[in-house]
Amino acid sequence: VRARVMQVDESPDVSYEDIGGIDDQMEEVRETVEMPIESPEMFDEVGIDPPSGVLLHGPPGTGKTMLAKAVANQTDATFIKMAGSELVHKFIGEGAKLVRDLFELARQEVPAVVFIDEIDAIAAKRTESKTSGDAEVQRTMMQLLAEMDGFEDRGQISIIAATNRFDMLDRAILRPGRFDRLIEVPKPDFEGREIIFDIHTRDMNVADGVDYTELAEMADNASGADIKAICTEAGMYAIRDDRTEVRHEDFEQAWRKIQETEEADADVSK
Ligand code: ATP
Repeated sequence: VRARVMQVDESPDVSYEDIGGIDDQMEEVRETVEMPIESPEMFDEVGIDPPSGVLLHGPPGTGKTMLAKAVANQTDATFIKMAGSELVHKFIGEGAKLVRDLFELARQEVPAVVFIDEIDAIAAKRTESKTSGDAEVQRTMMQLLAEMDGFEDRGQISIIAATNRFDMLDRAILRPGRFDRLIEVPKPDFEGREIIFDIHTRDMNVADGVDYTELAEMADNASGADIKAICTEAGMYAIRDDRTEVRHEDFEQAWRKIQETEEADADVSK
């Protein structure tokens, strides 16, 4: 079971240069995670506990997972990922045990970055969760809090959680000593989008006429993940057309297609 829920990556290949438009957030994550892993003695000497958990919140596809991977990479930490939804929905009755296993594994692999995606699945306000697995979800969360409250060489294990639904969270997890660093990761602004286009076209064979400023204006509500999708799709248009160079209009066409797909998805989920 453990192997299927926990995803362990000894050396994730994401670096800070791969992330665009969220420099302040990146700086804050680095400050919180790097210092305790790289210089634990500083905290001993000053006589304070290192920061505990970091909570990243914001819309889907904005780079939350990337941030956690990049900081693990930078600090040579093992990256251990677990999705909150899998914890409670796939392995009913196993949630609390899996949380114990997760921390056990992290202790064996220090330094480690533990990334808990979709934390809202185990830490929603009671009134918000309608499932019959309520008590089980509650037990899973209590176990998580107990692990966070209890462990010693805290700096060597960094806990980063992520959610797209900040408003749904049970405030108990935000208390001091738990996820007390809240970092909002928004969709990129115009400049951010330009940078992200730049990042994702780095390895692409792009024609001379491609104007990133115009693309960033065009994709005005896009997340980082959307921009990545636009670039891939633009490449597909070139291939279908039997070209090896990607043109400006390929990107435009790709964006239209992605918007249509997203609208269709939104209709289905209504
Ligand atoms: P979710 O909430 O859906 O899990 P997330 O915020 O964790 O999303 P990521 O998984 O980090 O998003 O991003 C998905 C992909 O989108 C990345 O692998 C990357 O290709 C691209 N991407 C997202 N944000 C950025 C960014 N700020 N800079 C560059 N690429 C990005």
